[in-house]
Amino acid sequence: MTPEIETNAKLARLLEPRGLGRYRGYGEMLAAIDRLGHRGATVAEVGKSVRGEPLLAVYLGERTISSRTRTTVILSGVHPIEWIGIEAHLSLLDRLAGADLGERAVIAFPIVNPDGVRQVEHNLREGRRRFVRHNARGVDLNRNFDARWHDRGISQRLLPFIFASGKHPSSEPEVLAIAHALSARRIDRALSLHSFGGAVLYPSAATLWPIPDRAEHRAWARKIARAADDKPYRATSCATWAKGFTSGGLELDWFHDRHGAVSLLVECSRGGIGPRPSRLFQPFAWFNPPALEEVAERLADAFMPFARGMKL
Ligand SMILES: [Zn+2]
Repeated sequence: MTPEIETNAKLARLLEPRGLGRYRGYGEMLAAIDRLGHRGATVAEVGKSVRGEPLLAVYLGERTISSRTRTTVILSGVHPIEWIGIEAHLSLLDRLAGADLGERAVIAFPIVNPDGVRQVEHNLREGRRRFVRHNARGVDLNRNFDARWHDRGISQRLLPFIFASGKHPSSEPEVLAIAHALSARRIDRALSLHSFGGAVLYPSAATLWPIPDRAEHRAWARKIARAADDKPYRATSCATWAKGFTSGGLELDWFHDRHGAVSLLVECSRGGIGPRPSRLFQPFAWFNPPALEEVAERLADAFMPFARGMKL
């Protein structure tokens, strides 16, 4: 942990008066991950970000790994401004650390894009209203996975700077570290937590064609969508949700196409603009609701049966 992170005042004290919610800063997120280590989890560094931050994986459940060990993988912080996904993830890990996982293994990557998260925190502390989507090299990590990477959808062709997919599949250290850490695993459940939009999405992102195991995906998506909020989230395929704007290189397709997992991408919450138009000009508020604890706890409960590998 760098001195700069340690000496910073709690971010929540700056955000709360602005109506942005009591969000934790990067140093506090790391401390929360570290605390999981005292509750039976193994926390390991699996790589370094472009700027040298640790890429952390949290291991829970079965430790004797064979090629048959069923594994759940959870990601968040792929897009660095989507902090409610990280908060929901940490709540979920808190529950999983206290649960009997039987013979299941769980591997979690709570902060996939640490350089971006630090940039977002820096902007918040400086009062800069900036939208941050990329890693430190300007790549959208959720276009860099090795799944139909060459299939550029219209949005990627029209807006190559926003949806920058990198030089080649897994060209970014953050994505490569995940691929290496999971290379010998039998992954049957995958969950990636983004925001916002209140939706549970399933493959494909790259094509409008239905996947062969669509029924199982749709059933899980609907179950989680109902449990996520009093007004249920939408449950649909990613390409349908994006109004037909297909995209290659998503983690959602990578877990499904490469690993054979039931793979879900959740757009957590409905954002935080609500009745306060002043928040319209604060990108952080687009993605993150002020009532973070309430949203994160409810989502963690909604994700538990899926993450634990229970049957429908
Ligand atoms: Zn996202």
